[in-house]
Amino acid sequence: MSAEQYRESLRRLKPRVYVGGDLVTSVADEPRLEPGINATGITYDFALVPDYAKVMVTNGLSGEPTNRFLAINRSRQDLLDKLEAVRLTCQYAGCTQRYLTHDAFNGLWEATWRITERTGSESHDRLKAYIAYSQANDLAIGIAMTDGKGDRSKRPSEQVEPLSYVHVKERRVDGIVIAGVKAIVTGGPYMHEYLVLPCRRMGAEDKDFAVACAVPIDAQGVTVVSRPAGRPGQAAAKFSAKFAQSVAAVHFDDVFVPWDKVFIDGEIDEAHLMTTNYASHHRHSCIGARAGFGDLLIGAGALMMEANGLDLNKISHLKDKMVELIKITEGFYACGVAASTFGEEDAAGNFRPEQIYSNIGKLLLANQIYDMHRIAHEVSGGLIVGLPSPEEDHNPATAPMIESLLRGRADVPYKHRANVARFIEDLTASETGGWYSVISLHGGGSPEAMKLEILRNYPVQDRKDLVQSLLDRGALDLGKGPSRDSQPGRCCAKGCASDDAIPSRTSFTAE
Ligand SMILES: Cc1cc2nc3c(=O)[nH]c(=O)nc-3n(C[C@H](O)[C@H](O)[C@H](O)COP(=O)(O)OP(=O)(O)OC[C@H]3O[C@@H](n4cnc5c(N)ncnc54)[C@H](O)[C@@H]3O)c2cc1C
Repeated sequence: MSAEQYRESLRRLKPRVYVGGDLVTSVADEPRLEPGINATGITYDFALVPDYAKVMVTNGLSGEPTNRFLAINRSRQDLLDKLEAVRLTCQYAGCTQRYLTHDAFNGLWEATWRITERTGSESHDRLKAYIAYSQANDLAIGIAMTDGKGDRSKRPSEQVEPLSYVHVKERRVDGIVIAGVKAIVTGGPYMHEYLVLPCRRMGAEDKDFAVACAVPIDAQGVTVVSRPAGRPGQAAAKFSAKFAQSVAAVHFDDVFVPWDKVFIDGEIDEAHLMTTNYASHHRHSCIGARAGFGDLLIGAGALMMEANGLDLNKISHLKDKMVELIKITEGFYACGVAASTFGEEDAAGNFRPEQIYSNIGKLLLANQIYDMHRIAHEVSGGLIVGLPSPEEDHNPATAPMIESLLRGRADVPYKHRANVARFIEDLTASETGGWYSVISLHGGGSPEAMKLEILRNYPVQDRKDLVQSLLDRGALDLGKGPSRDSQPGRCCAKGCASDDAIPSRTSFTAE
């Protein structure tokens, strides 16, 4: 589909969606959701641009072309192409949301395969049929994973309010009935369907909460309570009035799900594997998304300095700050590239990003987003929040004065300087700016979750053995220490020297 066809497809659905206290009659025509639909639409339109086809389009399960964000990774090159595709689309739209579908499909792949291997159930075949259906219909699927969670110190089955976690309430001959709330669903109101997934490790007593299934957005019993996407209709919102993201709470009030859309039901070990794999894929995607955001700050910061009359190449402290911004952006992006090139093939033939690099990249951006904002503020000056509001641009009493007196460099028109300043304000110092901080920090899991994964996967014992071997023998007694295969990313004997040559970066993001 094109973005326009995607928008049209939303008109055929009849979900129960609230925004700002109002029941929405047509999601596709609701102005408060428009920036979110525009941003998701970029994933459709870019797949139709021939120059982007290499990263945006790949083969689906049927062998037919499909959108990258609906595809299963079959190689390390696929991981790298997905990373590039996320960065490319997010350069234009900040957060294009649909890559979460990719992360969930790939997170579920090995888990369902293992269920089928162990129990002989149809789990994997059902997932394959659902992915094929999604690819054939070019769907946008929201990821409903983070439950309401209630009291964080209690397990799902211990909650006073059992509906704070989505769970299976009833099993019937023809399917299951689920109930509960998912608290934060990106793109909630303008998705075609949801994938409901467990958000944490479940114990034996929490079996009913270990459920993964697909639910159409307009299924009976689904209520979506959404925030507006970005700052629609605000003239000062140079970016987020056009491209942004809604997040929604989604209530599943006794929703029936037929068996062919149920992928995990009580298999707690495989459910946990799914959660971990999803996290790895999603953190890898977050790296691409925030690199696209970094590209916007680098460009806007450089334009602002120029409009202020300062030459980036001649003023050493500005040069330093710009290099710092570039270092942060490309530093965490390099973790994404490393996670791709050291990607690991699982037993089901799916490639997932190497976990240490994937988690470190996400951890870096979670903390460094605040430095990114600070640097953008530092190089730009206070005008980004001090500029008279856009309404003054049309006020005959003030506009001429502002235009001539609040100019920077003589040959740069005021309008241009004001546009860049408002762009930076929108991305870093407005409600949208705060949103970018919080999604970077908590989206894909809070920093502690990444630290746990890093420590869980890192070969600390090998490092101990290394030092022990150095203590036990002379440093020149080479060849007896731990093998190089214990490096992060050297997941197997083949490691990075695999059949997939380490790919070079495609050129479009540099253009
Ligand atoms: C903009 C945005 C978009 C998002 N989109 C999606 C989406 O599309 N789909 C989705 O499923 N989720 C989404 N999320 C949710 C995201 O994954 C969660 O925010 C994240 O996992 C943290 O969970 P929480 O917000 O419930 O915070 P909490 O779990 O309450 O964490 C808050 C703090 O408490 C700590 N903490 C929590 N529990 C414990 C405990 N038991 N013991 C010790 N410390 C604890 C955490 O480490 C953290 O520091 C999104 C989040 C944001 C901000």
